[in-house]
Amino acid sequence: MITAKARAVFGLNEPFKTTTIERRDLGPKDVLIDIKYCGICHSDIHHVRGEWRKETYPLVPGHEIAGMVAAVGSEVTKHKVGDRVGVGCMVDSCGECENCKKGQEQYCLKGSTMTYGATDRYGMTTYGGYSTQVVVTEGFVLKIPEGLKLDSAAPLLCAGITTYSPLRHWGAGPGKRVAVVGLGGLGHMAVKLAHAMGAEVTVLSHSAGKQDDALRLGADHFQATGDPEAFKNLAKSFDLIVNTVSAKVDLDAYLSLLALDGTMVNVGAPGESMSLNAFSLINGRRSFAGSVIGGIPETQEMLDFCAAHGLGADIEVIAADKIDEAYARVLKSDVRYRFVIDIATMAGLEEAE
Ligand code: NAP
Ligand code: ZN
Repeated sequence: MITAKARAVFGLNEPFKTTTIERRDLGPKDVLIDIKYCGICHSDIHHVRGEWRKETYPLVPGHEIAGMVAAVGSEVTKHKVGDRVGVGCMVDSCGECENCKKGQEQYCLKGSTMTYGATDRYGMTTYGGYSTQVVVTEGFVLKIPEGLKLDSAAPLLCAGITTYSPLRHWGAGPGKRVAVVGLGGLGHMAVKLAHAMGAEVTVLSHSAGKQDDALRLGADHFQATGDPEAFKNLAKSFDLIVNTVSAKVDLDAYLSLLALDGTMVNVGAPGESMSLNAFSLINGRRSFAGSVIGGIPETQEMLDFCAAHGLGADIEVIAADKIDEAYARVLKSDVRYRFVIDIATMAGLEEAE
């Protein structure tokens, strides 16, 4: 077994502690990655706060992984030692079902193996990227193109692909009016990507103070949602709404902003159910949809798109002993716009008793 240092929680809402975890020995198709940076996604926070399900411990989150290849198995052809690589939310899937064959591994009919908190095909619990090293089968390792910095590329592996995929699927581009709800990790990437695709972008935010940032990131318009007139003024004005909010929202209010045949796609994943009134859809032949990350081929396409357009995440790099503080700020919508852990700072941390 390969041992790695990690930051983990050992119970519901407990603070992070330093620990040692085991990674499997390198199989013929495996890649050993020295992790350099790992982004903090709000999904990590949902897990740590037990908002989605009952977790097993230790829980090592992190699915926005950027690093360098340290070793490869004997049959690996896609990657070599020293390559700059990334790993996102999945580390494996069945590879045989119709969705996997289409490169839509995130919709694997047998269920893809999540980067942390899952049981892999070897019967081992998966641990995420708040860690010094990880072993991943080569097909789930992405190439980080030259021109992208590793630290600001890390969040592309989840926040980037989760917004790129629905923007592409629902045709964001010239002539399309796209609204992004929530300017956080996902939201700020949605703005950059939709703008780069040529769409007209509006940010809908409950934080009035984010207007300047929204426009700098590429939005054409900004609307504070606390303003009671906001929803009336913007009625029937968007072709696509990407909702990235981590909490419950008033779906009917947002659906009223869709033009004829418009779609609201939820990528935000609050633990609580949301309801909507049928008339919000019937009027205007509107659709309400969801989307989860993106497949491996599309994730590589997104990374290449970001390199071609000079896009990375806006990040605040933190030391590995500052994760709890970062979570508290994300929960207050006070992230500008993704925290990224500098994994090198784990070297100085003592293992907890
Ligand atoms: P984040 O950085 O915390 O951003 C969420 C943003 O939503 C906040 O910055 C805030 O923006 C807004 N918001 C938060 N609480 C709100 C509230 N109570 N009312 C209204 N607006 C609120 O989170 P993230 O990392 O972008 O993740 C967002 C959600 O997407 C999470 O639920 C996460 O689990 C989910 N997610 C889904 C996928 C997928 O595949 N579908 C992948 C990754 C993450 P403003 O200040 O601008 O309002
Ligand atoms: Zn994520």
